[in-house]
Amino acid sequence: MECLFCKIINREIPSDIVYEDDEVLAFNDINPQAPTHILIIPKKHIATLNDVEEGDLTIVGKLQHTAAKLAKEKGFADDGYRVVMNCNEMGGQTVYHIHMHLMGGREFTWPAG
Ligand code: 5GP
Ligand code: ZN
Repeated sequence: MECLFCKIINREIPSDIVYEDDEVLAFNDINPQAPTHILIIPKKHIATLNDVEEGDLTIVGKLQHTAAKLAKEKGFADDGYRVVMNCNEMGGQTVYHIHMHLMGGREFTWPAG
């Protein structure tokens, strides 16, 4: 498997893990865009949001739930934060294993760039 995030899941590439269970892994982004910038990924390899199937809905919901849980743990849940999932080239996706960006600790503008 040549997928970078599958290699992180399998510990073939080191990462700074902040949360793990049977279904999801969360680790700090190597190039943070906010004081906290965590990537939350399913352990199942799914290349893009377009490839999510009905059987994956629980796991995708779990990405969101994990983001909110980590935001509470980090202390910025009430102030607010940003979650982003980029899809394909025009959406800015660079790693083809779905991931939710959780960013917090600063104010975000809208619309996103
Ligand atoms: P995307 O652009 O696909 O939405 O997000 C990919 C994210 O993965 C980027 O924010 C990038 O900084 C991060 N990233 C790329 N390679 C690595 C890596 O080897 N380790 C970690 N922790 N993050 C990475
Ligand atoms: Zn993968």
